[in-house]
Amino acid sequence: MIVGHIGIASGARALDRRESGSAAPILWLLAASVAPDMVDGALSLGKYCNPEGLFSHSLPVVAVLATLFGCAAFLHTRSAVTALIVAGLVVLHLPPDFITGRKVLWPDGPVVGLYIYRWGWLDFIVELPIIIAGWWLLRRSNFKPRIAVSVLALLALISVQAAFDVTTEVSGPRTPRPCTR
Ligand SMILES: [Zn+2]
Repeated sequence: MIVGHIGIASGARALDRRESGSAAPILWLLAASVAPDMVDGALSLGKYCNPEGLFSHSLPVVAVLATLFGCAAFLHTRSAVTALIVAGLVVLHLPPDFITGRKVLWPDGPVVGLYIYRWGWLDFIVELPIIIAGWWLLRRSNFKPRIAVSVLALLALISVQAAFDVTTEVSGPRTPRPCTR
């Protein structure tokens, strides 16, 4: 999943009914919801092999990431509730990725996923309602700054998703490069 993760983080922030001063900071929620993808990015920048998301999306790694993010969020906010929401969002990264992509569950374990990235139009249809729902929920809440929940912000998110899916349709899905020694 691509931009849909941002929709999930936005929805989580909107559903956090605590007073705005003590609600979970949106930056923590956004970072948590894309944490495994940030690891993906770092590994790919360092040209490290990460077959089927083994070092970023497998269950043991996601458990470690959730713990690290939860602890860091607790140290920053001193709120156990925020820490749990942040850790939960890291874990919630996986289920939608099993629909859009294909990930290995543990080292030498099975590779799971519907992999609808094969069809860019289908990925767009799946992610669009999640993006809109998250934006709509956050817009209905008292979230500030309001620019973050403007129609322009929604259009920007949809454009990024559309660009990804059109590229996928035109040039085919990005298949993970085989690891060479
Ligand atoms: Zn991912």
